[in-house]
Amino acid sequence: MTPSHVLVTRSLTAAAMSAAQRLLAPLVVLDDAPPDRAELLRSARGAVAIVSLLTEQIDDELFDAAGGQLRIVANVAAGVDNIDLEAAARRGILVSNTPGVLDEATADLALALILATTRRIVEADRFIRSAEQWIWGPKDWVGLQVSAGATVGIVGLGRIGMAVARRAHAFGARIIATGSRSSGPEAAALEVVPVGLDELFETADVVTLHCPLTSETRGMVDAARLKSMRQGSYLINTGRGPLVDEDALADALEEGRLAGAGLDVHENEPLVNERLRRSDRVVLLPHIGSAGAATRDAMGLLAVRNVAEVLAGRRPITPVD
Ligand code: NAP
Repeated sequence: MTPSHVLVTRSLTAAAMSAAQRLLAPLVVLDDAPPDRAELLRSARGAVAIVSLLTEQIDDELFDAAGGQLRIVANVAAGVDNIDLEAAARRGILVSNTPGVLDEATADLALALILATTRRIVEADRFIRSAEQWIWGPKDWVGLQVSAGATVGIVGLGRIGMAVARRAHAFGARIIATGSRSSGPEAAALEVVPVGLDELFETADVVTLHCPLTSETRGMVDAARLKSMRQGSYLINTGRGPLVDEDALADALEEGRLAGAGLDVHENEPLVNERLRRSDRVVLLPHIGSAGAATRDAMGLLAVRNVAEVLAGRRPITPVD
């Protein structure tokens, strides 16, 4: 492996790779698929910087393999739950992420999941593909109408949560939210009502998760939380899979307490819960929240620029504290 190289653990979009070739040399780029652990450790040896994806576990073992020259890990994601931040801090290795540039794309997807579940879009599509014949009926395929003033509960009114609030407001939803910005001026302009977590789960017709995965939030949506939700309500998760106890979610759906769920992220990613896979009321996506073309370019470019800043002796643009 080239000593003092920058390691890119998986190939990024063409725009991001061309910026990396221009700004970061020497460069070692692994394949499109996630590297196996041995290859990752071998390729990290002597690296001064690592551009990482959420599929890579960045921890003490990797830092040991890299050696003492490593200065920054630039994650191409807003979440940093794949990185042992404490280990990085202990070794003086900087960590950066890509917040801000993916808010609109991820909020678009959260809204798409809210509409897909409440209006039963995927279920209806499956029906029409399999039905030999069908006829319109006034009571068929009726679902919750967000635009008729349904209450959308946003857990974590941060960057993405606020972008979801803007969309939900435009749709005519009543919005309740947790997080420090829920009592700020932008939230007030969107008529957001700040509430505590318990009240949010007890009152919302649709609960949508936008907080990070941390030791505090892991398993936040457990059996008790699901039991506290309104009869016929919906759960949307574009945050991180382990926020939700998926077996408890499957129970709530099978018992008919929840009317539906939309999941972009999964508890044991890339594995998908078999009970949820079998449920018609669940829309399942392969973690595509940020997968807008412009956003994926912007995420890669920001990660590359974070590395370039650090190698030039400056602070990363978007450091993780
Ligand atoms: P952000 O701006 O930092 O907002 C995070 C929100 O979560 C804030 O409202 C924050 O409240 C709240 N929060 C933090 N810790 C919490 C806790 N322990 N309990 C309850 N709420 C808590 O983050 P963001 O940029 O919007 O991103 C949010 C998350 O979305 C990321 O961490 C990532 O996991 C996920 N994400 C997923 C995709 C995807 O492809 N599906 C794409 C992008 C991001 P305070 O303001 O009070 O701190």
